[in-house]
Amino acid sequence: MKIVQAKDITQKVAQLCVEINTKLADDIDSTLKKEERQEPYPLARNILSVINENRNLAINARRPICQDTGMVVAFVKYGQEIMIKDGGIEQAIQEGVRQAYCQGYMRKSVVKDPLLRNENTQDNTPAIVHYQIVPGEVLQISVMAKGFGSENTSALKMLKPADGVEGVKHFVLDTIRKGAPNACAPIIAGIGIGGDFEKAALLAKEALFIPLDQHHKKPHLRALEKELLRKVNEMGIGPMGMGGQTTMLGIHVLDYPTHIAGLPVAVNICCYVDRRGTVVF
Ligand code: SF4
Repeated sequence: MKIVQAKDITQKVAQLCVEINTKLADDIDSTLKKEERQEPYPLARNILSVINENRNLAINARRPICQDTGMVVAFVKYGQEIMIKDGGIEQAIQEGVRQAYCQGYMRKSVVKDPLLRNENTQDNTPAIVHYQIVPGEVLQISVMAKGFGSENTSALKMLKPADGVEGVKHFVLDTIRKGAPNACAPIIAGIGIGGDFEKAALLAKEALFIPLDQHHKKPHLRALEKELLRKVNEMGIGPMGMGGQTTMLGIHVLDYPTHIAGLPVAVNICCYVDRRGTVVF
């Protein structure tokens, strides 16, 4: 049995929330630089250059990359042989988020009531936390600060099995065509295929944690990722929707077995500010 102190969880989650808001992951960083070199359209290249300059400024000044510092989503792999001492895991994570957003002077973007919208929680909590119980002495917390300009363009559809892979492609491309111009492109897309209504959405969110240079192990899904990336970048939407070939930096599919009568598909769109990071205890 491995013992983890609740205060250590709080401290690491707080540190991670600040880090991901001020520094893009290396794979996104290097892809943005590569796209700036390769983008043939002057205006699009100029926008990518500003994005890259903003990235440098954020790192050097330890300031957020974007004013929308997101709503925090965490995926926890909670080992059966982990014991949390002096507190509970949920409270420890929420406290880490609270400290990061209050002490890091990041924007608090969470309202208490989704319809009344008259009261900000003032500390960017509650975060949305998903738990998976796993064997062993593992405690892994992956955190994302999800901006809602892009979240708002995401969609889920319960396709019929007869819609097949062509139906999946049509829904994904249609969702991205409508959403990318308002999602601070270049975007990154997470696609969940299978499971049921909520599982597809969770898969799509989890897919946004996958590094851009990793691809699906199944050949037909790897081919699907490649085809969708090519087709989106042929749409001409470009950075910030101003035209160009750099509309999407990467797309990842996660799949799960499903019912014989269904084919759920979820598309979770993220802007290039895909703020993600993981701590392991
Ligand atoms: S969509 Fe992304 S880049 Fe645009 S405002 Fe939101 S967090 Fe910032």
